[in-house]
Amino acid sequence: MTRQAGPPQQRTLATALPGPKSQELLARKENAVAPGIGVTVPAFAAEAGGGVLVDVDGNSLIDLASGIAVTGVGNADPVVVAAVAEQAARFTHTCVMINPYESYVEVCEQLNAITPGEFDKRSALFNSGAEAVENAVKIARYATGRAAVIVFDHAYHGRTNLTMALTAKNMPYKQGFGPFAPEVYRVPMSYPYRDGLTGPEAATRAIEAIETQVGAQNVAAVLIEPIQGEGGFVVPAPGFLPALSAWCTESGALFIADEIQTGFCRTGDWFAVNHENVVPDLITTAKGIAGGLPLAAVTGRADVMSAVHPGGLGGTYGGNPLACAAGLATISRMRELDLAAAARRIEALAGTRLRALAATTPSIGEVRGQGAMLAIEFVRDGGEPDAALAKRVAADCHAAGVIVLTCGTFGNVIRLLPPLVIGEDLLAEGLDVLETAIREAASEAA
Ligand SMILES: *Cc1c(COP(=O)(O)O)cnc(C)c1O
Repeated sequence: MTRQAGPPQQRTLATALPGPKSQELLARKENAVAPGIGVTVPAFAAEAGGGVLVDVDGNSLIDLASGIAVTGVGNADPVVVAAVAEQAARFTHTCVMINPYESYVEVCEQLNAITPGEFDKRSALFNSGAEAVENAVKIARYATGRAAVIVFDHAYHGRTNLTMALTAKNMPYKQGFGPFAPEVYRVPMSYPYRDGLTGPEAATRAIEAIETQVGAQNVAAVLIEPIQGEGGFVVPAPGFLPALSAWCTESGALFIADEIQTGFCRTGDWFAVNHENVVPDLITTAKGIAGGLPLAAVTGRADVMSAVHPGGLGGTYGGNPLACAAGLATISRMRELDLAAAARRIEALAGTRLRALAATTPSIGEVRGQGAMLAIEFVRDGGEPDAALAKRVAADCHAAGVIVLTCGTFGNVIRLLPPLVIGEDLLAEGLDVLETAIREAASEAA
């Protein structure tokens, strides 16, 4: 289906970046906005849609980031926009805990239906991913009567106090912001490129750490990103997630999949756990769920979700009617346009090209990922993380009008999260720019 609105699907540079209008706005930002709020691409947005973002100077950039995996359905998707406008004209807020509304119920019904597990489920809606993770932990502790939460090396779960504790990386997420919430225990992740272990071997290592250092009887939940996001798009070896999930079932702990980055067709299926038929007890979602409006959710087994007393969960804005309208429109667009298949096509195109490039580029340690969630890990001397190279490649892409992001505990990974609706020609052009940047930077680094 072709787009009905939005900017022309092309890359054009009218000025060097940042252009004069962006420069002016950057100066205003410096005088008004807390510097803790950083900037990756110094180009102020004017319009975005499909696979491009147009800035205030008329530069049209290819978007390979989707605002961190949010606008999978496309930025300002016309159907999502119409649904939000229609809702905004009727009512903008009631607080669902005061006067409920149908769209909140319908989002929960949809989530209960599309998440894995053929059992009775319930959902609760929130504003952000971090808030969903906090609530999943609250629910897991309440339902099990246990305190300990198990998380993994390289994990990212948010920036609030509890989710900082759950997150692995110190800079920039944790430095100076402690003390952190207690009863959080970190165990080794499966990272096949760096540990060489099979999934079952890596699971045994993690489980041994849990049993000896925490005690199975104390564990409320094992919380894991099925493919890690900020931590470097680390894809655990096959068998790792199923083994952890099975251990949870045996131990009376809950298995929580944080699908905030991986969910909503990003990896080529509704959820990343589907690739290994893992069925979590609880699943957290946000980012891709509502085409850019702030919506997040916890979905899970009805017995677990229903343990908490009435009034024990909620918030003023959680599941705001505009966000719910956007969420319902996004889910229906994902079905209508089969965006899971689109993600698989993106992998076929981009993954294949990047793997071929890796074969001839020693600075690329690994290309990995699934669907439209792909990453390139840069190394030197056969394995040392090379953050400078990743940074240089990203900067060269930005200067050439292609938005890419870095990630990874060592900052040495470039990640691609294109909108799932990006046109193939535009994606190919973005990859051309990325490949050229990598070849140039790598040959200079060598
Ligand atoms: C982004 C992210 C979060 C936090 O979501 P926010 O909406 O930024 O609070 C949590 N978990 C994962 C896996 C994420 O990618």
